Amino acid sequence: MLQIYCPYCKEERPELEFRHAGEAHIARPADMKSISDEEFEGYFFIRSNPKGIAFERWRHVHGCGRFFNAARDTVSDKFITTYEAGEPKPDAAELAAKSGEADK
Ligand SMILES: [Zn+2]
Repeated sequence: MLQIYCPYCKEERPELEFRHAGEAHIARPADMKSISDEEFEGYFFIRSNPKGIAFERWRHVHGCGRFFNAARDTVSDKFITTYEAGEPKPDAAELAAKSGEADK
């Protein structure tokens, strides 16, 4: 079974304790009333869905209950790293290199 590291509990736990919560680092527009329909569509619906490193929100729903972020390789389905919500987005190219090295 896939193990996911919770950055708050500081331990790996079975994936059944976690729930995916969408793409990470989506910033809500500061003034929602002033944006166009196209800008709202981009904020609300359009996601990157990359082939490779994806940044995702996850919740340790059957553990501490907290939201955190993860970088996951969508090709290998491996978690590269997890980090607390509010921490800066890691560099995707560095993570991809790290992920590639791990597969060798
Ligand atoms: Zn936790």
